[in-house]
Amino acid sequence: MASPTNKGSMVGSTAASSQTLKTNSDNMGWEFATLIYPLDLSRVKCKLCGKEMFGGINRMKQHIAQIRGQVTPCTVANADQQKRCREASEAS
Ligand SMILES: [Zn+2]
Repeated sequence: MASPTNKGSMVGSTAASSQTLKTNSDNMGWEFATLIYPLDLSRVKCKLCGKEMFGGINRMKQHIAQIRGQVTPCTVANADQQKRCREASEAS
C-alpha cells in the first residue's frame, strides 16, 4: 500500500544566469537582446532596459529603434542604437 510520492520531478532546470544566452545568428539585434529561455527564440529580453517581450529578435529591434505599433519603445537606447536597429529592421 505504500506508494512512493513522485514530487519534485518538475523542479529544477533553471538556466544559468551567469551565461550569456544567444543563438548562432549573426543578427545584429542580439547585440541588444538575450534569450530568456535557451530554446525559445521568441522570448527575448532587452539588455539595455531589461524589458522582456514576446516576438523574437525582430520585435526587439523595433523596441530598440522605437518603432511604434507592435512593441513598447525602449527608453534607454541612445540615438546611435536606435538608428542602427531601425536600419536593420527596415532591411530585413
Ligand atoms: Zn529596452
